Amino acid sequence: MHLLVLGAGVVGVTTAWFLQAQGHQVTVVDRQPQSGLETSYANGGQISVSHAEPWANPAAPLKILKWLSQPEAPLLYRPGLDPYQWRWALSFLGQCTSAKAAHNIRQMVNLGTYSRGQLQALRKKIELDYDQLDKGILHFYTNPKEFEAALEPARIMRELGCDRQVVEADRAVELEPALKPIHHRIAGATYTSEDESGDARKFTQALAERCREAGVEFLYGTEVLGFEKVGKRILGVEALSEGKHHTLRADSYVLSLGSFSAVLARPLGLFLNIYPAKGYSITVPVKNEEAAFQVSLTDDEFKLVYSRLGDRIRVAGTAELGGYSRNLNATRCRAIVRRAAELMPEAAHWEQAAFWTGLRPTTPSNVPYIGKSPFSNLYLNTGHGTLGWTHSCGSAAALADIVSGRRPEVDFAFSGLAG
Ligand SMILES: Cc1cc2nc3c(=O)[nH]c(=O)nc-3n(C[C@H](O)[C@H](O)[C@H](O)COP(=O)(O)OP(=O)(O)OC[C@H]3O[C@@H](n4cnc5c(N)ncnc54)[C@H](O)[C@@H]3O)c2cc1C
Repeated sequence: MHLLVLGAGVVGVTTAWFLQAQGHQVTVVDRQPQSGLETSYANGGQISVSHAEPWANPAAPLKILKWLSQPEAPLLYRPGLDPYQWRWALSFLGQCTSAKAAHNIRQMVNLGTYSRGQLQALRKKIELDYDQLDKGILHFYTNPKEFEAALEPARIMRELGCDRQVVEADRAVELEPALKPIHHRIAGATYTSEDESGDARKFTQALAERCREAGVEFLYGTEVLGFEKVGKRILGVEALSEGKHHTLRADSYVLSLGSFSAVLARPLGLFLNIYPAKGYSITVPVKNEEAAFQVSLTDDEFKLVYSRLGDRIRVAGTAELGGYSRNLNATRCRAIVRRAAELMPEAAHWEQAAFWTGLRPTTPSNVPYIGKSPFSNLYLNTGHGTLGWTHSCGSAAALADIVSGRRPEVDFAFSGLAG
């Protein structure tokens, strides 16, 4: 079967890989000149099954309300006139019950565990150079209340098979000696040894190259404008490249356009509840090897993650729900540098921080759309929000199974598949 994969972010490229591996002919379309140049470009670098707690949880509404007037808030809702933003927000509130949060954690842990396994298996098959480290992920808490709130989700995750162990401050510092200067401030921590880190852009681009060698065609510089359809079947994709309009045709299509999937799906009458949550990152050269960490870290209170990428440090996180703009907000940039430099002053040349923003394609539940759509030859692999890289290999392997008529091996609520 010939498939057009729309989008060459980490989700589109992994989809292309797993589809070609199952014998399909694949063409990938992206408006950028290369893969991995939008949200997959400079993310937090974590493969974090342990980061499965959705934003929507019982404590979230009050916190978000309190944060509304704080420009540095970790999660900032900027109310606008877009009805899709409000629809998303209402649906988010509906996901904030304990029962919904527990259900969503289950989805995220199942998909995450399967996905990490698929990534590890992929690395055994092909060489991919992306500053990978498998030293685990340490969530640390400087606020005792935040630590206490993390215990129940961590317990649920352990029950589901994600080995997120609760550890005391002494053990946290033993695991990552770079935390020594803030030993006295650590209220508690959790450690997941099987989680990993690396550079998502390098991963995406290295895998795109392996895809190309395996026969996948890439149409870069090609903007997807819309779909041609008859009834519940897609006939082609209207595209624009080098100023010329043309129609791209295939047997089937996969929608992996990140935050823009929802916009492109709307004219089809297909509503996907995906809204962009703008996140920030800084990338900074390491200053003092001894003071710099190797274990990937999560500072949950400030919604920041830290990854070591060779001789660079990446700090990423925070979320702003305010539309599709990727403008850098100086206040939010400064807040990240301030927190990181305060915790680990000697680790990096913080004054040399390179700033970046990306739009997480976020669903209210944090659970992505993977599977069939109401159109017989249009598949969905999109809406991966906070964990798109973590979930990419598993989502792609599962989607390739669905396209090939097989039931995926992972227990997950796939779109369009009977439970
Ligand atoms: C600050 C931050 C930190 C993060 N940290 C982590 C982390 O540590 N671990 C983790 O797992 N995840 C993390 N994420 C989430 C992760 O980066 C995303 O979920 C993931 O990159 C989404 O991949 P994607 O392929 O769906 O989207 P994208 O990478 O955005 O890819 C979509 C592609 O579609 C193309 N496109 C869009 N519209 C069109 C069009 N009309 N025509 C043609 N092409 C189009 C774009 O050019 C782009 O290449 C983070 C995100 C942010 C913002």
